[in-house]
Amino acid sequence: MSRALRQLALPAAAVLLACSACTGSTPTGKPTSHTTASPGAAGVGDTLFPRLGNGGYDVAHYSLTLAYQPDENMLKATAVITARATQALSSFNLDLHGLAVRNATVNKHVAQTVRRGDELVVTPAATVGRGQKFTTVIVYDGVPETIEDSKGATDEDSKGATEGWMETDDGAVGLGEPTGSMAWFPGNHHPSDKAGYDITITVPEPLEAISNGTLKHRTAKGGWATYEWSSPEPMPSYAATVAVGDFDISETASGGLPVYVATDPDEKAKARRIPSLVSEATAWAATRFGLYPFASTGAIVDHFPDLDYALETQTRPYFHKAPDDKLVIHEIAHQWFGNSVTPRSWKDMWLNEGFATYAEWLWEEEQDGNTAQETFDAFYNGTHPESEGIWDFPPAAPPAPEQVSDPPVYGRGAMTLHQLRKAVGDQTFFSILRTWTKEHRHGGAQSADFIDLCRKKSGLALDALFNDWLYKPGKPSRARP
Ligand SMILES: [Zn+2]
Repeated sequence: MSRALRQLALPAAAVLLACSACTGSTPTGKPTSHTTASPGAAGVGDTLFPRLGNGGYDVAHYSLTLAYQPDENMLKATAVITARATQALSSFNLDLHGLAVRNATVNKHVAQTVRRGDELVVTPAATVGRGQKFTTVIVYDGVPETIEDSKGATDEDSKGATEGWMETDDGAVGLGEPTGSMAWFPGNHHPSDKAGYDITITVPEPLEAISNGTLKHRTAKGGWATYEWSSPEPMPSYAATVAVGDFDISETASGGLPVYVATDPDEKAKARRIPSLVSEATAWAATRFGLYPFASTGAIVDHFPDLDYALETQTRPYFHKAPDDKLVIHEIAHQWFGNSVTPRSWKDMWLNEGFATYAEWLWEEEQDGNTAQETFDAFYNGTHPESEGIWDFPPAAPPAPEQVSDPPVYGRGAMTLHQLRKAVGDQTFFSILRTWTKEHRHGGAQSADFIDLCRKKSGLALDALFNDWLYKPGKPSRARP
């Protein structure tokens, strides 16, 4: 996500079932012990967002087929969700905000559904055994909602950002950090459960529909155009996007990597450099952070002045207007830090934003602008325009859900990395970053994993550094390291 600060308020397979789904046996061939299936949990236990995500299963793949009519802001859709049960399930939840569920099946049998706020409770005809792969199909429609993130402020300046499904002047966009994806598709909406995606969108011509990954097909029939996008690499649901509107498309290649940039004609004059800049940023970041994790790169440059942030949507960052160089670097850096290496819980958001912010400092340093040390000093001294509020709380311990995108997570997170770089030296520092993106490629991680890696690679304890900069309230002593 961009620095325009967002403010948020939302919130062993041997045990089988005493039921018709019981089909297995132990490796010895003896009948398995039976256990009672139970409902999956309504959340994954995230300390900041306890209701986000759901327990009892792990999604492998989402196949979303969407038809969108901008005139009525109407979405008609089918979600096919392939998952594996991590417990014997009598029922399970999906996160879904608004919209009407018309039909639901599990393994092709009609399933019962109940709505409880943003929880869609699905009860299959037959229980799902632990370890069993199962396919859920949800048919749904309606006018998808924009989620207003607000800290309860009423004045314009203090109002939070918006996410979910948002109408633009010529279409709409779906953006989902941290909760908004539930406004346009049902799923396990927590970053601890990543999955592959195929997203197919049908829109009235001449509008276009841009999403993550690779465009497999574009077909047109009866005034409607259908775009089939495929993202085989795991993706956290908050990084999924759909942008519908009038776009000029640029398809180029950089080092064999397809570069797909969609630009709203209203931003064209200011965005001419974006295709080459995205290529340059992707190649530069690969030299610093390791192999690029995905099969394509690109950007969506929309014209959406009412939005006040950009988002690192996977392979295709979304910009609400033509971005400057540093913002492109920031969102491209997120492809490694956030999209490929994803925090297992939202309190570790600094693993995204601290790293993406520090990428900006590194870029500026290499462009003969301010050195990272000078930027650090400006933050420390409070002279940097983004330094306001950075001491409000320690970056690895946001106190409330509406603070996961606050200044400490960005600025002080980046300062932590700079202190680490000074303590271990450049060679070890960049080796740590490349090892981090390699060891957790397409996976999940937490702060403790990063600290362990830093200790291992440097041979230093680094206790005081991480304690002071990541966890301890107040402004740390500058003397260290
Ligand atoms: Zn960011």
